Amino acid sequence: MFRFITVFLGCWLISTFSLATPWESFTTPSTQPTQSIGSYANGCLAGADTLPLQGEGYQVIRPQRQRHYAHPNTITFIQSLAKELQEKGMPRILIADIAMARGGLFSFGHSSHQTGLDIDVWLRVTRLPLSEKELENPRATSVVDIPNYRINSHWKPYHFDLVKSSAIKEDVARIFVHPVIKEVLCATETQNDREWLRKVRPWFGHHSHMHIRLKCSEEDIHCIEQAQPPEGDGCGEELASWKPKKGQPADKPNYIKKAKKKPELCQALLRE
Ligand SMILES: [Zn+2]
Repeated sequence: MFRFITVFLGCWLISTFSLATPWESFTTPSTQPTQSIGSYANGCLAGADTLPLQGEGYQVIRPQRQRHYAHPNTITFIQSLAKELQEKGMPRILIADIAMARGGLFSFGHSSHQTGLDIDVWLRVTRLPLSEKELENPRATSVVDIPNYRINSHWKPYHFDLVKSSAIKEDVARIFVHPVIKEVLCATETQNDREWLRKVRPWFGHHSHMHIRLKCSEEDIHCIEQAQPPEGDGCGEELASWKPKKGQPADKPNYIKKAKKKPELCQALLRE
């Protein structure tokens, strides 16, 4: 039951149909002062910034989707994480969806990413920069053997460092990864440094990317935080309960996505 409640409240879903949303029609941020408004899955973003399409240690993939608008804290977070990883000699990171120009609901993909605080980072490793053509239509690398519910040979020690380096950051509220990935992280971490695992939450669909969710900025008084993850490293029973029983779909259950009524401050962004 717990799992289904979590599923319902959580970050990821692939809709089985495309639903046009008014948020997609905006190609410019609003002129209001910057603010994340509402919750991750029902909110918007005033006065967004854009993440430059490339920088030290990262590139933005599928820039044509125009989902690289973000809260300024998110931009700083990505730039400093990418730089830090590069300085440690790790491959560049590939940044996928963040948010649209005014946040809000995507017509396909995740139901969250609405307030400029959610970031998808691919698990594909790339030492060489991708060409413009590849960036527009990149090939994803899954690290999970979905039908057999186990990690595959694409998983490298790099991935452990990538998730851990992100999770230990103060600004991070949660990171979503496929439950098989969380099992590997749980098994790899030593006994005395497990606090960061609490933030890493199992979620179907996240086997070729991880989803980083940042906390609300303190100044954003209309930004709604999610409750803290349960105490502990989350490596026990709840994680085990994600393993599909015989006959259940191996990875992607269908969820119906419904547009919810937005906070009034978000309605104002649509009128500007
Ligand atoms: Zn995501």
